[in-house]
Amino acid sequence: MPSLRLDTPVQFLKGVGERRAELLGRLEIRTVRDLLYHIPFRYLDATTVTPIARVRSAGAGAEVTVVGRVISTGVIPTRRGLRVFQAVIRDDSGLLECGWPGRPFLERQITKGSLLLCSGPVKHFHGRQLQPREWVVLGGEEDEAPDTGKVLPVYRATEGLTVRQIRRLVEDHLDRLLPLVEETFPAAWRHAAGVGGLRDALERVHRPDTVAVAEEGRRRLAFEELMLLQLVLARARRLAKRSRAGIRFTIKREFTTQLREHLPFALTAAQKRCIKEIVADQTSPERMHRLLQGDVGSGKTVVALFAMLLAAENGYQAALMAPTEILAEQHFATLTRLLAPLDLRPELLVGRLSAGEKAAVRERLASGAARLVVGTHALIQGEVSFRRLGLVVIDEQHRFGVEQRAALVEKNAAEGPDVLLLSATPIPRTLALALYGDLDASRLDELPPGREAVATSIASEKTRGKVYRFVREQVAAGHQAYIIYPVIDESEKVDLRAATKMAEHLAKEIYPDLSVGLVHGRLPADARDETMRRFRAGDVHVLVSTTVIEVGIDVANATVMVIEHPERFGLAQLHQLRGRVGRGAARSHCVLLPGEGASRERLKRFAATQDGFRIAELDLEERGHGELVGARQAGQVTLRFADLTRDTDLLETAHRLARDAIQADPSLSAPALQPVVVEIGRRFERGLELFRAIPG
Ligand code: ADP
Ligand code: MG
Repeated sequence: MPSLRLDTPVQFLKGVGERRAELLGRLEIRTVRDLLYHIPFRYLDATTVTPIARVRSAGAGAEVTVVGRVISTGVIPTRRGLRVFQAVIRDDSGLLECGWPGRPFLERQITKGSLLLCSGPVKHFHGRQLQPREWVVLGGEEDEAPDTGKVLPVYRATEGLTVRQIRRLVEDHLDRLLPLVEETFPAAWRHAAGVGGLRDALERVHRPDTVAVAEEGRRRLAFEELMLLQLVLARARRLAKRSRAGIRFTIKREFTTQLREHLPFALTAAQKRCIKEIVADQTSPERMHRLLQGDVGSGKTVVALFAMLLAAENGYQAALMAPTEILAEQHFATLTRLLAPLDLRPELLVGRLSAGEKAAVRERLASGAARLVVGTHALIQGEVSFRRLGLVVIDEQHRFGVEQRAALVEKNAAEGPDVLLLSATPIPRTLALALYGDLDASRLDELPPGREAVATSIASEKTRGKVYRFVREQVAAGHQAYIIYPVIDESEKVDLRAATKMAEHLAKEIYPDLSVGLVHGRLPADARDETMRRFRAGDVHVLVSTTVIEVGIDVANATVMVIEHPERFGLAQLHQLRGRVGRGAARSHCVLLPGEGASRERLKRFAATQDGFRIAELDLEERGHGELVGARQAGQVTLRFADLTRDTDLLETAHRLARDAIQADPSLSAPALQPVVVEIGRRFERGLELFRAIPG
């Protein structure tokens, strides 16, 4: 056998054959290094496990963790067709029923005989029941319950490869693998962050004596992760600012002044402030790279339009790119309306135009006849060229990859257009810092006047009939409604079937006299867009939808948002959904319809506030370590080890150290820093290029 290195494929390890290597591959474990970095997502120790007998006497609402053997399972329908997966588990002290409402498909994953760990709140439901928020199959029939008193790592596993098997694999090889690990960071950085060495950290996370020791190890890995990201961000920012001079626009008071005079409303103070900040960037010789954050309905489009007009009156072109055709059309309609009094017509470039129409738009962009364009990904196609692109605006920027945003900017490689990113997803400061480093940000923290808060209420199965009647009354009054069903992962067939059934049920039995539409992510885009257009035109009264609706849809006539199973959505997502209503003059309502046994506490907290930034923070707190969906949502960067709610100190330290390091040594050329650059190359696809290929 060749000598073992960190790059050695995991298949060369004893105990890993072809089949197991394939399963490990599903967990992204391909090399022995990957195995070392596959760290436990939690630990079990005797002090955190409650004997089942004590759960049965615990009060409802108590949070517990139990471990037991599954002795029976089943799927039980409730009265209104929601199916609950149930498993009875046993330990030395007694039996306990665990229930997962709306998750019948777990039947395939949790089987009789397996050893199961569950944690979550105790509910009262025909006696005591645990409704697991978290659960993990620890082993099969042949596996023993863990020794009490021992700290047991729990790894992410996959079908066909149990936690237990992964634990064994790590245990068997850890002593041989650890000596291969070399330190990557200078001692000064480690001291500044208060963390230890890399080898030691990996040993601690895999084989801790106490949970606290494991946490120290994790913090070291988290620091490394944050530090590398901050170095990349600091470097990218330096290059962006240095490599090309920006365009220096001047204030000509032409189109911008005309728009101001003809606006059908007065700008809010926040809009004025943001326009000022953006104009200051545009008129400076440095390139603008600014994020405009604003809650749903805060009026980002008109702010962006002022920036676009400043570019236009300077003889440049401006492009606004949106992630879907519907959104692009919506912006196009808004711009067309606002620009009607001016002698300016925006262009629309989307996939559904005929080949001839597209060619005509492209022609006008290339000749410079078109000054403003709104479009989708169609804008970054190779055939599209601009005469003189001066400003790029990206709506819902997190839905584009970094390279897609760059592709539009590259349409003027000679001059380096300004970039304005729009986001309705409020990003807490820590997350923004982690994702963008020193990105400049403007915040629209005020809604236009006259917007009433969306009245948010929590209904229940008992009041479902009343909710349906309320929707009907609103439709009778000339309004429209959304009913959202949780199909969070569009590949979850069972969920999708439930949503489709629900739409059928509503159309046939509840609202036979109304027009009910259905949209979900598995429909072809043109069918989905067609239904959306009909909804916007008022031809569909009740729109049943999965979360595909979440993005910036603006139908002012819709006044009701009913959300089924809100317990299955994150708070930030609920906020986005609620933001689809309350966009017109009429009073709007959001009705939450939780499943039986769902916690109402967090829903109450949500109902009590409309502050998007506050909700974003609650959301981040709620999700905690391990499952940073927020990071992915907010910018296509996934953090594996860091937890932004707990590691803010590490983040601040990393940010400061990275800025200083790049300032002192812009390409990190010092010999002592070579392991750092190598690690960046390993973790970021174009990382080495960033530091090596480009001078500066
Ligand atoms: P978002 O920030 O969610 O993208 P939009 O830009 O779509 O918000 O604006 C939402 C609605 O509010 C639009 O119909 C827009 O015309 C309107 N609007 C924007 N600014 C104001 C304002 N200052 N006063 C009144 N209405 C406004
Ligand atoms: Mg918008």
